[in-house]
Amino acid sequence: MTRISRYFAARLGLFVLTLPGTSLGAQAQSSSIVPGAAPHDSATLSVTPRRPEIGSLVLLSIRRARAAGDSIVSITGWMAGEPLHFRGDSTGVARAFGLVPLEASDSVVARVVVRYDSGVADTIRSVLAVPHRVSPTGGRPARARRLSVSKVFTTRPDSLTEARIERENEEARAVGRRAHATPELWRQPFLRPRSSRITSPFGSGRLFNGRLASSHGGVDFAGQPGDSVRAANRGVVALVDNFFLAGNVVYIDHGGGVVTGYFHLTQALVAVGDTVERGQQIGLVGATGRVTGPHLHWSARYGEHTVDPMGLITLTRLRR
Ligand SMILES: [Zn+2]
Repeated sequence: MTRISRYFAARLGLFVLTLPGTSLGAQAQSSSIVPGAAPHDSATLSVTPRRPEIGSLVLLSIRRARAAGDSIVSITGWMAGEPLHFRGDSTGVARAFGLVPLEASDSVVARVVVRYDSGVADTIRSVLAVPHRVSPTGGRPARARRLSVSKVFTTRPDSLTEARIERENEEARAVGRRAHATPELWRQPFLRPRSSRITSPFGSGRLFNGRLASSHGGVDFAGQPGDSVRAANRGVVALVDNFFLAGNVVYIDHGGGVVTGYFHLTQALVAVGDTVERGQQIGLVGATGRVTGPHLHWSARYGEHTVDPMGLITLTRLRR
């Protein structure tokens, strides 16, 4: 490991293992070290933020230790079972989203393979420690909120309804999987879909009638029926439907594995296959599905995984 990568590793609280000129896996072994190839410096991988929470996106950045004639031909990688999509920026740094899934326990691994013109490949493996949100003794999350809600949330749905909910969840997961095959359709940072107050953040453990229910898989924005809902970024409308829990929904495929969802709408103003621009009005706030009142629930996926959509806003301000 070079001094510079040790420095980054220490600063980021990461364990970064760089194996110059080697690669893992049968596919890569044939292109490992080419005899007589010019020596090159290893690439380094850094991760932002330093201490990601479970259910959050991270930004992975690949830098060359110093410029060399041996140019990078491809960067591929995996994190939490999802493929990574690196894109070079104007400063020569390649960046991609990664994620720490909600179900992560102690750590999550990012594995990146950088291939050079000469045929040499670097495999960089980064292990991120995952903080525990709930105490191991089963104590309540620090930010638990107490809500009193109607019985529809606490009584078990019948088997037909359960099957419908599962079918709709699978439809949403499939949209996420397909987004890996769509090229990134956006270049500017993500926006909030509404400028109004956030009434419930992502992942805040919620107490329904005194019982700890599953964590919140999105961000709620205040709004009255008929208020505007805007596309968080450029993309293609992948799904418009009426779901049991989420009501009238719009899902936008932004490409590169990223999908955003807009729930409980009075009405969708777009159709599947439409290309929508960043900030374009795509629907109206409503109270459809299982809700206690009108609001916009905004969700995001990286592949199949649900993540905090606010990470799209903070991290894309860092991407160029
Ligand atoms: Zn919500």
